[in-house]
Amino acid sequence: MTTLLIAGLDYPRTYREFVTMFPNNEACALYLQQLRWPKGFVCPACGAEIAAWRLSRSRLLCSSCRHQSTVTSGTVFEKTRTPLTTWFEAAWHLTTAKNGMSAKTLQRTLGTSYRVAWTLLQRYRVAMVRAERKPLSGDVEVDETFVGGVEHGAKRGRGAQKCIVVIAVEIKQPKGFGRIRMRHVPDASANSLVPFVREVIEPGSVIVTDGWGSYNELPTHGYIRTKLVLSDSGDPAHITLPGVHRVASLLKRWLLGTHQGAVDAAYLQAYLEEFTFRFNRRTSKNRGLLFRRLIEQALVTNPVTETDLTSGDVWG
Ligand SMILES: [Zn+2]
Repeated sequence: MTTLLIAGLDYPRTYREFVTMFPNNEACALYLQQLRWPKGFVCPACGAEIAAWRLSRSRLLCSSCRHQSTVTSGTVFEKTRTPLTTWFEAAWHLTTAKNGMSAKTLQRTLGTSYRVAWTLLQRYRVAMVRAERKPLSGDVEVDETFVGGVEHGAKRGRGAQKCIVVIAVEIKQPKGFGRIRMRHVPDASANSLVPFVREVIEPGSVIVTDGWGSYNELPTHGYIRTKLVLSDSGDPAHITLPGVHRVASLLKRWLLGTHQGAVDAAYLQAYLEEFTFRFNRRTSKNRGLLFRRLIEQALVTNPVTETDLTSGDVWG
């Protein structure tokens, strides 16, 4: 197995380095190979850690079980017709641009069709979910917000017109926010909100909510609930929880700015995942490292179909 062309550089620091490191598809495939099999080829079929035969079109033949694979088999990059150089370029822009990129901007930047740009973005967003496995803990604010359209007059329970997004934010003492998680939920019932809390927040954490009854059962699942009831208006106040309020307004600004608000409800969760990935790494100075992280995540994420994207199965 060949090593990377530039010794000691395991991720590009600048766009110039990026271009030098990945001049063609072979260089990209080699990089994937290094990240996926740092100690040498492992057959995806039989698990043998032995030499593979190199066939044409970058196929690898396991010398033990004769299974044919490629470095992209079983990953987000599987069976793609888009060149790896384009995938890499998309990952670079997605992680180094301060606010990411819309599919439209990416289309122009890469010189691809809109469809290809959109597909790349969606698949990388799925890969971003896997990067957020560690549950939130400590003091965590949880509240819902409305995304899309006018908020006034929308009811909180069933029948609300807008997309409801539940947001969890770690609160640091004496001030500041930690990590976040978000989910597009069908309604604000306990059936929608409690499973989200249980999936993304460690039991034993202090959950700060408003007075909404759907959160009443949290203590039975091992959480300590603190109620903040500050609003005397009819709607029990989305603005009383400072962390959620701050994150919600950043999210809305991002959707309106970078994405011109053109977010299809069916794909809203994808945008939430990208925002979360970005927010949780906001203090990271090294964008090149984020690029490598995203490629690593894409390698450990199973292939994604379009049905997967809308069904919500990939976001759990
Ligand atoms: Zn094998």
